[in-house]
Amino acid sequence: MNCHSEAVRALAASIGPGKPLHRYSDYLKRRFGSKTYRVSVDAGFTCPVREIGLPCTYCDVRGSRAPYLGSADSLLEQINGGMSFLQQRYRAEQFLLYFQAFSNTHSSVPTLRRIYDTGLSCGRFVGLIVATRPDCLDEPTAALLAEYRSRGLDVWVELGLQSAHDATLRRIRRGHSVAEFGRATRLLQEFNILTAAHVILGLPGEGAREVVQTAHYLSELGVNGVKFHNLIITQGTELFREYRAGHASPPTTAEHRELLINSLEHLSPEMVVMRLTCDPPRDIPSVPEERPDKASFYRDVIDEMNLRNTWQGRSLDTGLHHAVP
Ligand code: SF4
Repeated sequence: MNCHSEAVRALAASIGPGKPLHRYSDYLKRRFGSKTYRVSVDAGFTCPVREIGLPCTYCDVRGSRAPYLGSADSLLEQINGGMSFLQQRYRAEQFLLYFQAFSNTHSSVPTLRRIYDTGLSCGRFVGLIVATRPDCLDEPTAALLAEYRSRGLDVWVELGLQSAHDATLRRIRRGHSVAEFGRATRLLQEFNILTAAHVILGLPGEGAREVVQTAHYLSELGVNGVKFHNLIITQGTELFREYRAGHASPPTTAEHRELLINSLEHLSPEMVVMRLTCDPPRDIPSVPEERPDKASFYRDVIDEMNLRNTWQGRSLDTGLHHAVP
């Protein structure tokens, strides 16, 4: 087992020809020394922009499930179910507790403390992961999260960015700016909390140039991890209406792969790559209909990068730079 910095340094140094990616699974293995998996839970949080009726244009209704905020029974049920699934399927030995659905810091500090404590009391965890929006993070919340770090847990905050371009953020109605993402990241860094960014490739108005600039931005800011998502346009969203009107179209799997490789080439090798595609909704019609299978898409990306003799961060020192706001 290595500390976070040792694990990251060793893996970043190994990236190059034939080993093109800083994979999350490799990081977890080196960091914790055994099979470590995330247990995802929905603690019933909401999201500020959904509350005011102005969700991101691509946001579908998944996650608008009945709230059961802080319900110990429900969390226990989810955690027990998640752990036994991961043990049976992957022989998981250790777990990170992952508050995934919606904005998991969108409440008062006492409520957040109660919810995180309740979740953490349901099992033995080596880490706490909290997904949220950059505009749902202030200093008292960062201080609360740092308390869990001082209890010996790895603490990660996953922040939605999607694009490092304000024009795109306005177009997809994110409701926050790139500068707000920068502020939230720096605040977390001050408290020694690890950060990961969510990025969507192929957003309306964006191509290779924009995704490369987003990769530069994240690298310059020193974000620790990134989750890439392919753009899925789901029926019922504002973006679906734009799609029907011919004003937006999602990248094909091949186009997503191309954008992804462009982005990876400009991404710091120290950044852990946590995801390459997203999980499409099963019960709501969406486009594109073609769905990359996660495992085969992953192999395809690795094969293609090896074929091109390229790797994560290969072009980081060249090309388009982004002035970090
Ligand atoms: S921040 Fe997330 S949950 Fe909130 S509207 Fe946007 S996509 Fe939906």
